[in-house]
Amino acid sequence: SLQAKMSRPVQAQRLEGIDKNIWVEFVKLAATYSKVNLGQGFPDFSPPGFLKEAFVRALSGENHMVHQYTRAFGHPPLVKILAQFFGKLLGQELDPMTNVMVTVGAYQALFCCFQAFVEEGDEVIILEPFFDCYEAMVRMAGGSPVFVPLRLKAPTDGKLMSSAAWQLDPAELASKFSKQTKAIVLNSPNNPLGKVFSREELGLLAELCVKHDVLCISDEVYEWLVYDGKEHVRIASLPGMWERTVTIGSAGKTFSITGWKVGWTVGPNRLLQHLRTVHQNSVYHCATVGQEAVAQGFQRELELYGKPDSYFIQLPKELQQKRDRLVQSLDAVGMKPIIPEGTYFLVADISQFKSDVPDVPDSSEPYDSRFAKWMVKNKGLAAIPLSAFCCAAHRSSYSHFLRFCFAKEEATLKAANDILQRWKQEKTGP
Ligand code: PMP
Repeated sequence: SLQAKMSRPVQAQRLEGIDKNIWVEFVKLAATYSKVNLGQGFPDFSPPGFLKEAFVRALSGENHMVHQYTRAFGHPPLVKILAQFFGKLLGQELDPMTNVMVTVGAYQALFCCFQAFVEEGDEVIILEPFFDCYEAMVRMAGGSPVFVPLRLKAPTDGKLMSSAAWQLDPAELASKFSKQTKAIVLNSPNNPLGKVFSREELGLLAELCVKHDVLCISDEVYEWLVYDGKEHVRIASLPGMWERTVTIGSAGKTFSITGWKVGWTVGPNRLLQHLRTVHQNSVYHCATVGQEAVAQGFQRELELYGKPDSYFIQLPKELQQKRDRLVQSLDAVGMKPIIPEGTYFLVADISQFKSDVPDVPDSSEPYDSRFAKWMVKNKGLAAIPLSAFCCAAHRSSYSHFLRFCFAKEEATLKAANDILQRWKQEKTGP
């Protein structure tokens, strides 16, 4: 009967528990209340001129075929240049047709990986805090996430800490690998912490992956955004790792064009062939014009590689100054920042502001989440609570930090500074 049909749940069981998404909530709050938005991770400055020009050239040039479908697994000029570029970085001879696949942003690359590799009953190790979609995507594929926390080492002196102080416990990490472990997700440079994993830390992860025959999904979207001369190490370049790693990148973060949604995967054909299966049965292919322009951007960067004019040299230089500006603003008011080694983000300790936003005992919402909502509504400043990047069971251990995005114009950072200064004055009197 109609009644019986209507009473059956319409949604698949897999969607249980993953219907909420923090971005939907916090992006809306920022749009409604914020005067200064340091929440979601996107630049408010212009992408480089050479890339906008490449897009315009592609759009209005003679080759009108850029307005039509292109190859499903990546526009040929883009996969060719990505194979050349990443072949050089990874020390591998890469075949553009089988070792590279273009995706709708890094987000779809992640989705393809989880759908392709994770089976009902498989465990996937996620280092915590983590970019929130990892957990939902693992669950949607039928897998079980296993969280391994990064913990903040106690400060040794009065100085500001570095994101390097967030550390794994090697014994705890090793204990989470089991027969059920199918893959580990690595994100270095890390969103939200700004941590850049050291060669030693990556070596330990690699050893465990090899020992337990585990795949590595390496989200390296912030690969060029590394500061203070630090080195970004690609885990796929470590011994035994190439054949078990998919490396994920994003033109959004690479060229400051998050709205273009062009991303890619690089890896061995034995893994990428299965990503192609997911891709051809879901998205099929990504918008052609953006791929054409990104290909030209990489062509330029290949020619300028390591030279001062390279965008991959200039962008981190500029972002490091922006980082320092925000670090200074937060430190001046006592919202202690942890200096990030990479990414668009830093996390800052809100403990000294507790008197403004009293804790509600027994609230099911983590303190930092209520604080972030209060701050955007009352001060007009948007940031993201760190607990949003943690699994439900561990939220309370990460609930006195906010994540701020500093990939912003000087004027935006100054406006944030003004809000913080005024707030401090209201607290302490002039
Ligand atoms: N991974 C991480 C760690 C990210 O921070 C983001 C973007 N916020 C993505 C993947 C998604 O990248 P894209 O915009 O290219 O889909």
